[in-house]
Amino acid sequence: MSKSTTRRGILTGSAATLAALGVGNLTSKLLGHSKASTVQTQPTNTASSVLATESREVDSVLASSSEHWVGNGFRVRSVISPDGDPRRQSPFLLLDHAARRSFEPTSERRGVGEHPHRGFETVTFAYRGEIEHRDSAGGGGIIGPGDVQWMTAASGIVHEEKHSQRFTEQGGELEMVQLWVNLPAKAKRSAPGYQSLLDKDFPRLTVGAAQARLIAGTLGDAHGPAHTHSPITLFDLTFGEPGAAEFSLPSGHTSMTFTLEGQVVVGSEERAVPEGSLALLDRKSGGTVRVLGDKGARVLVLSGEPIDEPVVAYGPFVMNTREEIVQAMRDYQTGKMGHLR
Ligand code: MN
Repeated sequence: MSKSTTRRGILTGSAATLAALGVGNLTSKLLGHSKASTVQTQPTNTASSVLATESREVDSVLASSSEHWVGNGFRVRSVISPDGDPRRQSPFLLLDHAARRSFEPTSERRGVGEHPHRGFETVTFAYRGEIEHRDSAGGGGIIGPGDVQWMTAASGIVHEEKHSQRFTEQGGELEMVQLWVNLPAKAKRSAPGYQSLLDKDFPRLTVGAAQARLIAGTLGDAHGPAHTHSPITLFDLTFGEPGAAEFSLPSGHTSMTFTLEGQVVVGSEERAVPEGSLALLDRKSGGTVRVLGDKGARVLVLSGEPIDEPVVAYGPFVMNTREEIVQAMRDYQTGKMGHLR
C-alpha cells in the first residue's frame, strides 16, 4: 500500500475504502484527529522547532506468521524471530503473540515442559489468564493479567512455562506475549536472573488518548521498574477513546510498535498496522512517534539500543559464535544448566 493511497483513503475515503485499507471502523472523531495532523504547518523559523515537530515514520509493517503451538499451552503467531536481520531488529530477537483464546477447564496443566535457554532474556506479558514459570536457578512465580516476568537466561537455565494450576482447573481466556531480548556478549556469561514485575508496579501516564503502563526505561519523568542489561524502553498503550498518542523514544534505538488489539495507524503518513502486525520505525534520531487508535485499541511499544555484535541463534540458544552454540548444547546435555526440582 503506498502512502499516498493511505492518506487519500484516510482523508477522503468512504467506509468501504477505509475497510479495504484495513483501517476498518476508525471513527469520524479519529479521522478528525488525523486530518488535523496531516495538515502540516508552514516550516517554522528556527532549527529547534523544526526538530521538535519532526515525526518518526514507519519503515515497514511486518505481518505475523501463521499460528503454531508452543508446547500445548500457547497458540502463537511470531512477528519477529531470531533468524531475522539483527541490524534491523537488535536487541529484539523474537516476538510471539498468543491472541485471546479460550481454554476449557481440565486437570492436566498445559504449557511447555522443561527446556534450556542461554545467552538472552525471555520477557513474558500475561494479558489474560495466568502463567507459571519455574527455573533451575530457583526463579519462579505466577503472573496474571497485566503482570510481566523478565527471565534472564544469561549463562544458562532450564525452565518450564505452564498455565497456572488455578487457570487450568477454572479455564478461561488466555492472551500473552513473549519477547526475547538479546544480551551483550559480556552479560551472556553472567548469572541467570528473574524479575517478577506486577501490574501495580508500573507507572501510569496519560499520553494523549491513551494510557501508558511503563515497564522499562523512561517516558516523560517516569521510570519503569524492569532492570535491563542494555538501554531499553518498553510500555503498552490502551486507548480509552479514539485519538492520538504522541511520544518520543531515545535516539539511535531500534523502535517498533506492535498492535495487540484494535484499529491502529502509525506515523504522520498513517500506515495501518493491523492487529498482530508490527511497525518498524525509521532510525531518525529524535522526532515524535504518533499512534492513532480506536477505542479499546492496545499497542505494545518497544525500543532498544542495538547491540552491535554477531548473532548466532540455534533453537533455545543465542550466542555470538557457532562454537559457543556447540558449547551450549554440550553444557545442557551434561547438566551444567541445572535441572528443575
Ligand atoms: Mn522458554
